[in-house]
This record gives sequence, C-alpha cells and structure tokens, in this order.
Amino acid sequence: MRALRLPDWGLPPVLTDVDRPTPRDGEVLLRVEAAGLCHSDLHVIDASPGGMPFRPPFTLGHEIAGRVAAVGPAVAGIAPGDRVAVYGPWGCGECRRCSAGRDNYCDRRSELPWAGAGLGLDGGMAEYVLVPSARHLEPIGELDPVQAAPLTDAGLTPYHAIQKCRPALLEGSTVAVIGVGGLGHLAIQILRTLTPSLFVLAVDVREEALALADRCGAHLSTRMSADTGRVLRDASGGYGVDVVLDFAGTESTLDLSARSLRADGELVVVGSGGGRLSVRKPGPLPQGGRISLPFWGTRPELTEVISLARSGALRVEVERFPLSAAGEALARLRAGQLKGRAVLVPD
Ligand code: NAD
Ligand code: ZN
Ligand code: ZN
Repeated sequence: MRALRLPDWGLPPVLTDVDRPTPRDGEVLLRVEAAGLCHSDLHVIDASPGGMPFRPPFTLGHEIAGRVAAVGPAVAGIAPGDRVAVYGPWGCGECRRCSAGRDNYCDRRSELPWAGAGLGLDGGMAEYVLVPSARHLEPIGELDPVQAAPLTDAGLTPYHAIQKCRPALLEGSTVAVIGVGGLGHLAIQILRTLTPSLFVLAVDVREEALALADRCGAHLSTRMSADTGRVLRDASGGYGVDVVLDFAGTESTLDLSARSLRADGELVVVGSGGGRLSVRKPGPLPQGGRISLPFWGTRPELTEVISLARSGALRVEVERFPLSAAGEALARLRAGQLKGRAVLVPD
C-alpha cells in the first residue's frame, strides 16, 4: 500500500510502498478515506533530532476517517464496513487518565515512544492504518469522511480548549481568536454554537483567513498589525478581551494576547509557534490572568464534536488533495496558501 512516510529527521516525507498491516488481538485495520493535514505535521517534519518525544520512521497523518477493513480476534462492538473517525492521541491505555478517555493527558506520556497516530506510530496518510484499539474509533454515520477527519484534531483541539475556559465564556463576553487556519476557523464556529451571545474577534495575517473568519461567524475580523492590541481593546469596551485563544503561539501573537487580555481573563495557548511569554509579577499578563496550554482533546469530547457536526453546527472548510499530491498540499500549507484544512484522499 502507498504511505507518506517521514524517513528520518531532516529528510522530506516520501510517498512509498509498505506492507499492509494485519490486525492482531484488539487492533483494527481501517481503509483510510480521508486524512487531514495539520500545521503540527510541519513542526514534526521540521524537527531536529531530540526535538520531539518520538522518532522516525513512521507514516504521517493524525486526523483520520475511514471504513473498518478488518478486526483482530479480541475486538467486539465494531465490524468491517463501519465508518469511523479516529481519536488520535493514543496513550498507554491503562493509566487512570487513559481509562477515563483522557489519553491526551496520559500519565505515562513521557515513557511512550509516540504521541499518537502519525506521531511516532504509523498514521493515516496511507491507504490503510492500524488502530491499536477499537476504543479510539468514533462512528460517523453518514458524515462525509473528508469532514470527519479534520474534526478529530482541528475540531477537537479548539473544542477542548474552549471547554476548559467555559466559566469565562459568559453571555456578552469577548473572545479573540488569533490565527484562523484549520483550528481557528472551527474555533469560531464552536464558540458561536456553544455561546451564541459571545462577541468573537478574529485576527490573522492573511486577508483570505479573515474572510473565512467572517463566514464562520466572527463579529469583527482584523489584520495583525502594530495597532491590533488597540483594536481588540476598543472592540471590548476598553476593558480588554475576556478570553484569548492563540492558535499561532508566536512571539508576536503571545505579546498581543497578553496586552489585549482583560484583568481576570483567560489566555489559552494552542499554537506551537515557539514564542515565549514571561509569567512574572508584575509582568505582561494582567492581574488575575490565567494561562493554559491545552493539548488535543478527550475521547468523550470527540463524540461531542462529531455529534455537533452531524447536527449541522460545524462545517470544515476543506481543500481536497489526492494522497499522491501530498507534496503539493504540504508546500501550500507551508506557504500559507491554504484556506481552512487540506485533506488527503487516497487515490
Ligand atoms: P494553520 O496553518 O492551518 O493556521 C494557522 C493560522 O495562523 C493561519 O491562518 C496563519 O495565517 C495564522 N497566523 C500565523 N502567524 C500569525 C500571526 N503572527 N498573527 C496572526 N495570525 C497568524 O495551522 P493549524 O493546523 O490550525 O495549527 C495552528 C497551530 O496549532 C500550529 O502551531 C499547530 O502546531 C498547533 N496545534 C496545536 C495543537 C494542540 O493540541 N495544542 C493541536 C493541533 C495543532
Ligand atoms: Zn494536529
Ligand atoms: Zn495512559
């Protein structure tokens, strides 16, 4: 079967032929119908040796949807032909966190030589993917797999980030979404759906991303500039923004986030842009400010995200590529030329 593999650190991914795996014990083999391309894939491809808690070679792809092709002898409750999305942050499966469906915060994460599907273990940018346990599979019914795949990360991660700051998302609160790409455009839709009376501000460096923010329901979209801090403050009545969701995480966006935050506000850093922010008193963050670093999402939250999408509340903006054009999709993502999410479909 064809698979997009990262051969080693410092080498570009290659589309190559590998053996199709056979599921054993509790494993499930999926025929991949769609695999989303995340900005984290670029961080992984660009990483230096020791920069990630796992090692190549492996097949990329951590946003996966497909059809069950075969199951191991110990699998119950799921059968060939079932259409599913994959919960990607595979943990040890045994600790208290994993037992509660919180593999994203697995207690043994630091001991595991992988962070999830396509992150140290073979992922979904291939014709087939081996999933270690049926507990990672969420039925999608009639949902288009090209929609379902990005929901497992680009949908789940902002959903989890937003759940963590729900107490701050009161009626009339102001929220800033910085970075309106794969994750950010779904964050806006999730915010508007969960708390319709929020005032949602969007920031990006690209006009087409701001236009996407408008279509997703943002009340105000503004281009990143030296003046953005003032724009966000003015738009929040001069007080500052109650919640900032930073989907870039660069030096400039963290600086903007800290400057725009209201006292007792919530800064949620999702983007892995490598920027630094000092936490000190007194310092750049306002009094009462809280900061969190959410990672991916929980298994029960994936069920909620898929359910929201099946109800019509979430719509992923997708650019579709055949798996054989993965190189072009990666180049477009790197150049900032994609709208929403690129999704690879095996051809
Ligand atoms: P993306 O490339 O689809 O979107 C990023 C957006 O940010 C783009 O629209 C880009 O124009 C915008 N942007 C970049 N620099 C900016 C700046 N200085 N100011 C304003 N906007 C800026 O990426 P994505 O797949 O949505 O991922 C976003 C980030 O989140 C990445 O760093 C990714 O690695 C990270 N991520 C984190 C988690 C997690 O669990 N914490 C999960 C998935 C992705
Ligand atoms: Zn990702
Ligand atoms: Zn665990």
